[in-house]
Amino acid sequence: MFEHIERVPGDAILGLIEAFKKDTNPRKVDLGVGVYRDAHGNTPVLKSVKAAEERLLEQEETKSYIGSHGDPAYGNAILSLVLGEGSPLLTDKRASATQSPGGTGALRLAADFIRTNLPGKAIWMSNPTWPNHHGIFDAAGIERHSYPYVSASNTLDFDGMMDSLGRIPEGDIVLLHACCHNPSGFDLDKQQWQQVLNVVKQRNLMPLIDFAYQGFGDGLDEDAYGVRLLAEQLDEVIITSSCSKNFGLYRERTGCLILVAKNEEQMNNVRSQVAIVARENYSNPPSHGAAVVSTILGDEALRGMWLEEVDDMRGRINQLRSGFVDAMAPHGLAEKFDFIKQQRGMFSYTGLSRDQVERLRNDYSIYMVSSGRANVAGLSSDVLEYVAQAIADVSD
Ligand code: PLP
Repeated sequence: MFEHIERVPGDAILGLIEAFKKDTNPRKVDLGVGVYRDAHGNTPVLKSVKAAEERLLEQEETKSYIGSHGDPAYGNAILSLVLGEGSPLLTDKRASATQSPGGTGALRLAADFIRTNLPGKAIWMSNPTWPNHHGIFDAAGIERHSYPYVSASNTLDFDGMMDSLGRIPEGDIVLLHACCHNPSGFDLDKQQWQQVLNVVKQRNLMPLIDFAYQGFGDGLDEDAYGVRLLAEQLDEVIITSSCSKNFGLYRERTGCLILVAKNEEQMNNVRSQVAIVARENYSNPPSHGAAVVSTILGDEALRGMWLEEVDDMRGRINQLRSGFVDAMAPHGLAEKFDFIKQQRGMFSYTGLSRDQVERLRNDYSIYMVSSGRANVAGLSSDVLEYVAQAIADVSD
């Protein structure tokens, strides 16, 4: 029966990883893969995570099932991190947290929850968006559309976005990136979030906010601005959160689906539905990553250590952004690339064409996604000049 099944091409990024590994050029630079890298090109285990793991090894008492919603201590810690300590939504018991296998797992829970409980609703996502958004909602059988987000001249197309959101059928779902937009790096400012809130209210839309990079933009609270604005000003919001990047727990699959409802009763109703969706997908979430996170967030010393580590990761990314623009100055291109300093998070749409990306790979062993998306964290002060020179060469 397998005879007729065709092989499909692998993920483009995985192909890029393979090509990079095989490249023997000692000056090669990987700006493709979507993980944080330190100054030595590593993605280390955070010190706070190691310390929490030591404690867990000592103290963990059971490997029994954890339940479909996961560990309540983790859920409460994530609710405070995302919605803010002392948020009225928490005192009013309007927010439900479900531990999930990564942000991807939270998105799939959201998608299945929407399909079963909000039948017929379509989802609208930014163009471009993280490609897996397409796959996840397609797999759940949800009709998918897009709204403009990046203009042809590589700027945030906020007017195009607002125009499109204003015409979405009432009651549809709108997928928003909380911060550090992947792949473009273009984020909304406070005023723009307010305008998004207005149109969501006007059209009675259901926001689904993907929060995969909390702490990587301007700060843990600063990055939550849009999430908290919408969650506090609307009756209902869906949020998916991930600890992959800010805790460096990529392979431990640690995320959370948050549903905000109008009141405690409705919160408990939707929560009961999420438990069914989780049970039908994987029954219980993996425990380890979430146990690490709740250990860190529940302990003053570990929390302090983690806050510093997040500050360091964010500081490095933002320093590299400025460093890159400075390195373009001798080539007379600082102004042209100044937007890199305004973008936030690990990723940047560089504005480089497919052809330029190919030349960078073939002639300079600099690897980035063909859309021109670069992982800024893949840079280091040692390679800035080399990369700047190469980009100047292909920009002629
Ligand atoms: N959402 C966005 C926009 C992402 O970029 C990612 C990861 O790259 C995720 C969600 C999911 O992250 P994970 O499933 O690794 O937690």
